[in-house]
Amino acid sequence: IIIWANRYVILKKIGAGNFGTAFLIEDKEEKNIDRKKKVLKQICVGPVDPGETVDAMHEARLLARMKHKNIVQLHESFLDGQFFCIVLEYCEGGDLECKINEHKLKNEHINEQQVIKWLKQMLNAINHMHQSRVLHRDLKSRNIFLKNNQIKIGDFGISRILLGESDKASTFVGTPYYMSPEVLKHERYDEKCDIWSLGCVLYEICCFTHAFSGSSLMAVMFKIVSDYNPSLPQLYSRALNTILERCLYRDPRNRPTAAEVLAHPIFGEEKIPFK
Ligand code: ADP
Ligand code: MG
Repeated sequence: IIIWANRYVILKKIGAGNFGTAFLIEDKEEKNIDRKKKVLKQICVGPVDPGETVDAMHEARLLARMKHKNIVQLHESFLDGQFFCIVLEYCEGGDLECKINEHKLKNEHINEQQVIKWLKQMLNAINHMHQSRVLHRDLKSRNIFLKNNQIKIGDFGISRILLGESDKASTFVGTPYYMSPEVLKHERYDEKCDIWSLGCVLYEICCFTHAFSGSSLMAVMFKIVSDYNPSLPQLYSRALNTILERCLYRDPRNRPTAAEVLAHPIFGEEKIPFK
């Protein structure tokens, strides 16, 4: 067994992604039994420029201070040889991609009330981070988790830790499905790129397929910059469809902010049943 920092015991490997490997770990110092399990992401940085490492550690410390009920908490980060390690809150409910696939297999649509609840939680998380000028840049159903049916967005700000604020961000090759036109075209981008990706996730929740799909990477990218406009099936309301359309406006200046989407009456407090 491997023990990190005299504190974290590896239970199992849970996956590998763009940035490295994820492990389920046990925190020996955590007293709360429900929180003993955590996730450790080990990112190989290789022999790095000490200046960049300092920036990354600084960023990680800032992120660890951000707390929101719909964001996967970053507990701490440290450098272990050539690995940059981050310790995260564990979301045992799995990710939204798995949840969507379960529904797809059962051929059972996710009802609008549920979609709206999840969407509101995602918007609250995004709004919170954007107000602190932190972008996600890799928002996708696989980075969105469920914990007691509550949304927890993972990897918020992680791309900034790993790629910095520089142009390197545009050389980042993740999945293309959620990439906004401006990011694809290497144009200037801002927090609106996350709104685009959120639109893609909303579509996926309702339709069980990617909003922009194709048989090759090029075909997907072509679709994203074309004038194709995805829309939701009839069983969803006109209002929800309008939100989708606006999140997927090609010009980022026309796309609403998270706060603007949240102001839509669809997210109003549910009526308390009369007793
Ligand atoms: P990617 O997001 O590119 O798939 P990650 O390294 O973020 O790569 O995740 C790898 C795997 O670990 C995924 O299957 C993901 O669902 C899982 N995972 C990541 N973070 C958590 C977490 N905080 N709680 C539970 N599972 C997680
Ligand atoms: Mg991830």
